[in-house]
Parts: sequence; C-alpha cells; structure tokens
Amino acid sequence: MGHSAVHEGILRRQAARESAARTYARALPIVPVRARGLTIEGADGQRYLDCLSGAGTLALGHNHPVVLEAIRKVLDSGAPLHVLDLATPVKDAFTTELFHTLPRGLADRARIQFCGPAGTDAVEAALKLVRTATGRDGMLAFTGAYHGMTAGALSASGGAPDVRVARLPYPQDYRCPFGIGGADGAEIAARWTENLLDDTKSGVPRPAGMILEPVQGEGGVNPAPDGWMRRMREITAARSIPLIADEVQTGVGRTGTFWAVEHSGVVPDVMVLSKAIGGSLPLAVVIYRDDLDVWQPGAHAGTFRGNQLAMAAGAATLAYVRENGLAERAGVLGTRMLTQLRSLATEHPCIGDVRGRGLMIGVELVAPAAAPGVEPTAPGGHPAAPSGAGDPNGVLSRAQRPLPPAPELAAAVQRECLRRGLIVELGGRHSSVVRLLPPLTITDEQAAAILDRLSDAISAAARPHHG
Ligand code: PMP
Repeated sequence: MGHSAVHEGILRRQAARESAARTYARALPIVPVRARGLTIEGADGQRYLDCLSGAGTLALGHNHPVVLEAIRKVLDSGAPLHVLDLATPVKDAFTTELFHTLPRGLADRARIQFCGPAGTDAVEAALKLVRTATGRDGMLAFTGAYHGMTAGALSASGGAPDVRVARLPYPQDYRCPFGIGGADGAEIAARWTENLLDDTKSGVPRPAGMILEPVQGEGGVNPAPDGWMRRMREITAARSIPLIADEVQTGVGRTGTFWAVEHSGVVPDVMVLSKAIGGSLPLAVVIYRDDLDVWQPGAHAGTFRGNQLAMAAGAATLAYVRENGLAERAGVLGTRMLTQLRSLATEHPCIGDVRGRGLMIGVELVAPAAAPGVEPTAPGGHPAAPSGAGDPNGVLSRAQRPLPPAPELAAAVQRECLRRGLIVELGGRHSSVVRLLPPLTITDEQAAAILDRLSDAISAAARPHHG
C-alpha cells in the first residue's frame, strides 16, 4: 500500500469509528507518524509546522531530546510505572523542580495535590478545595472562560450549571462589553465585580472562590491587563475569597514569564497546572497555600495520580525552560510576531484584531463592512483601524466599532494554512480567532516561516473568489 492509501484508510476508519464529539481531527485531516520540535510528518509524507502544539502543551516542541532522555532514564531504571500516589524519587524531583519555579509568596507555603491526569480534574479539585476551605458554595468566573469539560469545570466555563457560578465580565479591548476597551473598560469590569460582591441585593452570596485565566486561551486569546489582575487580587483578598489562577495553558513560559501571574505580580491562593508541566505526557496538579489544606484523606483521589514518565518528562521540561530563559525568549519573540501581524493587519481589512502575550497569539478575523465575509481587493475604506495602524486612539475606536466575527473565513484560513504546511488552531466565541501556540524553542527563521505561511493563507482565503 502506498503512503497516500495508508493515510486515507486511517482517516476513513477514524471517521467511521470515532465519536462525533471528536474535535481537532475534523479540521486537521492529517495522520502524524513522526515529529520533532516544530515539525510533524504525516503518513502521506507531508511535513507541517505545528503551531497547535498539543493545544499549548508542548513547551519544547515534539520529542525534545531532554524529554526523551528523561523518559528513557525512568524506563531503563526499572522503576515502577504505576504507583498511585506513593512517594518516589521521580515524583520528589518533579515537586522540587516545580516548587523552585513558583511565584515567591506561594512557593514558601505551597502544598501540591496530584490529580487525575487532565487539566479539568485539577480544576474540579481546586473548586472542591476552596468550597471545603471556606464552607461556602458558589464560584465567580468570567465571560469567555474555559476550564475544562467535567461538570464543575464546565459550569465555570459557562456550560451546564452544575456549580452555582456568578458570571463576571472579563476585560477585552476589541469586543469590550462596555464599548470602550483599554484601562477604562477594565476598570468598569472591576467595579462591577466589586459592586456585585458588596451589594446585598445583587443576588450573589459570598462565593467560595474566584477562578480566572491570566490570558484566556480558548476564549480567543484575551490577555488580562495587569492592573485588572491586581484589582481582582485586592477585591478577593479584602473579602477572604480565594483566588484560583488557571494556568493550565499559560504556564511554563508560554506568555513571557514562567507563570502568567508574574506579569502583574499577583500571588494567587491556588494555581491549577497541567499541559506543559507533563512535558507532553498527561499530568495535572493543584498548588495552594498551606492554610487551605483542610482536606480529609481521600477528599480528591484518583487511580492515575502517579504518572512517573510524565513527572520525569515534566521535571526535565521545567528545568530546561528555566535554565535556558525560554520564558524571556517567548516574550521577545512574541512581541516581534505581534508587531509583524499588526503590520499585516493594515493590509487586510479582514483582520479585526491582533492580540496576545508571549507565544500565545490570536488573530481575529472579521467581516469588513463593505462586503460582509469578503475582503475588498484594495485596502482602504475600512471603518475600524486595526491595532498598530497609527491611530493614537486605536484601542478606543476599535472597541467602539468591532466588526462582525467571520468564522467561515477563519475556517478557510485554517484550511489554507494546512495546505501550506502550517497547523493552527481556531478559538474564540465564534471560532473566528486564528491561534498560534508554537513551541518556545522555535528559531527566528521558523517564526518567519510561520508568519509567511499564515500571511499567504489569509490572502488566499480572503480573495473574493475563494471557496
Ligand atoms: N483550563 C484551561 C485554561 C485550558 O486551556 C484547558 C484546556 N484547553 C483546561 C483547563 C482543561 O484541560 P484538559 O483539556 O486537560 O482537561
């Protein structure tokens, strides 16, 4: 059988046998067989630059040598691979390395709970922890949040209400719910939060905790302003409400600091960690201050809390990111890529907004007013200046006049990217945000190649005769 027949056969059987709930597999009909760093090779022999990175998991890219070596070392040592939550040298080393990286103020008094291996399980554990510790019940969560797919995490994400959640506005510039964006929009969002908690008739009793993402990922790459983060810290601290930072996606250097809360200097009471901490293998933990450690033995159990290979791969990843300054590198490279994308936006009226922090980047596609869903051939006549277009009040005017999201165009851009050997994710409320989450290890040349392919894909998808 030829390469192409193998590839086609595998995809056909997947479509016939796997759940209708499958996700990435629908938009990305590839069959990965080999991978290294940024590159994936498919069963059809095609090579792709992978800016999905396991939904932001692969801080060091695919099969980084230090990760492979760490895994081999455990295998060769004869250590047991399944140990429930027993103590092992591998776990001890992982915990030491992780504690080494934690924000000061939490590191000295930290406790760690090893959870079932998914981010969503660590979110469940965190919600349960603060409810137990405070004796209160409801939670505060934000518009656009994503915390996972199990019942509690889903409630916090705006899904089926299993946990009582009061929904608060997350600040955004481009689609600011108050129509002004910037620091003023964030301040109004903070005041609404404060008011809700202090107004005895707000209908929101004192909650057990507040959960937030320092940069919303699945919600469309929305970085929280540092000032707003500090306001959330002050508001919760003044009312003895534990603050939970969900750093499942933002952690391990992704946003330009080791943990994204470091940008604002906020020290949360609880941190939820997964994805990159397992060095590409499943691992999730909750970190919290020792005074919250009121749990009874077995309060949050799970068979798979002792993934030795993930702990070894994770410890190697954490150490490599720390020792090689990859957070700083992500910050510098991300800033440069954002600048380049903003300059691209001036040529494409269909790019409504470019935003991000470090190597967590989003390009929001919109329908320009002239011809909805179709980009005019010549730039100009575009009502909303993209950011960086030289308008000193750009943020305000864009926030006042965001254009309608263009999910079909975004899907077309994703397909055109794939045709050019570039894997990107879509996110945001309407799946209209093209997301870049490349490994922190990419070179300048690779970053340039990513942007070249994305730029070509946008041009191709936006051509009026496309599709
Ligand atoms: N929190 C955040 C911020 C996430 O981005 C995700 C996954 N995208 C989760 C929680 C859930 O993690 P998992 O898919 O491993 O359950």
